[in-house]
Amino acid sequence: MSFHALGLHKRILDAIDDAGYSKATPIQAKTIPAILEGKDLIGLAQTGTGKTAAFTLPLLSELAQKTHELSTRGTRVLIIAPTRELVAQINESIRTYGKYTNLRTAIVIGGASERHQIEKLQSNVDIVIATPGRLMALMEAGHCSFGKLTHLVLDEADRMLDMGFMPDIEAITASLPKRRQSLLFSATLPPQVERLAKKALKDPVTIEVGDRSNPAETVKQFLYPVEQHLKADLLKHLLEDHQFFSVIAFVRTREDADNLAKELHGAGISAEAIHSDRSQNHRTRTLRDFKASKIRVLVATDIAARGLDIPDVTHVINFDFPLQSDDYIHRIGRTGRAGNEGCALSFVTSYDGERLKKLERHIGKTLAKRFADDFNYKVPAPEEPKGRRPQQGKPKRHSSDRFEKSGRSDAKKAAKKTGKPDYRKRNRR
Ligand code: AMP
Repeated sequence: MSFHALGLHKRILDAIDDAGYSKATPIQAKTIPAILEGKDLIGLAQTGTGKTAAFTLPLLSELAQKTHELSTRGTRVLIIAPTRELVAQINESIRTYGKYTNLRTAIVIGGASERHQIEKLQSNVDIVIATPGRLMALMEAGHCSFGKLTHLVLDEADRMLDMGFMPDIEAITASLPKRRQSLLFSATLPPQVERLAKKALKDPVTIEVGDRSNPAETVKQFLYPVEQHLKADLLKHLLEDHQFFSVIAFVRTREDADNLAKELHGAGISAEAIHSDRSQNHRTRTLRDFKASKIRVLVATDIAARGLDIPDVTHVINFDFPLQSDDYIHRIGRTGRAGNEGCALSFVTSYDGERLKKLERHIGKTLAKRFADDFNYKVPAPEEPKGRRPQQGKPKRHSSDRFEKSGRSDAKKAAKKTGKPDYRKRNRR
């Protein structure tokens, strides 16, 4: 469907033309008219479907329409997303699609200077894009004024739930003006997200595009059975093939990510780890270098599995098999984007049997096994020090595991520092 038939403002249509989009994707064709009609909405769509434009285009169009009413400026739109990278990406989309408007945005994320963000918030921006923890902290410290807010977007709601942000989200939404349009996007709809939708949205329409249990059809998927101690060697062996041009290797823990990146580096392969322990500057630089093909292998924890839009990833490698079937779908959705072909290879050990069965039931197909040519699968495992039981193949548990999943909230820290009340406590009562 042509964007011109959807009722968007001329300034937004001009920017879409500049971006080279010829027609709306299915989720855009369905959500844009509903949002322009002012409805609350639950959007369920696979990753890479054009979801960001599906909500930013109509919201920008609405604000562009009302520029004359924005004379008493104040934030009209608040967008909350789980990760800093996703916030930056949404901000970039808004700049692209809103280039012919003079709407102003601010981003609010952890791991970056608070002072700069506070100054930006106080300069009366039209749109705020934020991660929940830092937003909560700045709200509690009295730096946000959302009295004029008309639109709220909760993006990747299920991911925010996984990261432990639900109490923050509930507290934030409860403190916003009641007369507003609210949109919630989520890849899956677990009960807690459904409950949030009931509380935060009014009579929402639900729009679902594609089969949520199925990865994009542009991704070829294979299993590589391998012993745990040979995984790194198998990866290096596969990387001898230059078709593995731009690769994301997913591992389970931050420590594993650092170790694997180091090992690849040692073998002369340009690789960097990305995970929540790295500074925001480092994460931004790593992603920029990966997008510019200066880094060949990005070694990532599940923090990078969702939302990130890197157009030319040739291969996703599940170096460690994902714990949840949904994580598998999100991980492999990093390749085969925007109509390109992609390839997802999963290393499987004998310990992954149950999870593999569960995944195959979830996606409704059996994944084909492959073996790498000329790879020596028979190298024995290194001997364990005496007195220790061999743990070959068993997923390692690190004390750091928890942190990759849980959102570390700035809110608690801020409440302590400022002595101001913690919204979540109030709302829990
Ligand atoms: P998203 O699902 O929001 O991460 O978007 C995935 C990619 O699709 C992004 O690189 C967008 O720039 C691109 N995209 C979004 N809408 C369209 C469209 N209508 N036509 C072509 N590409 C699009």
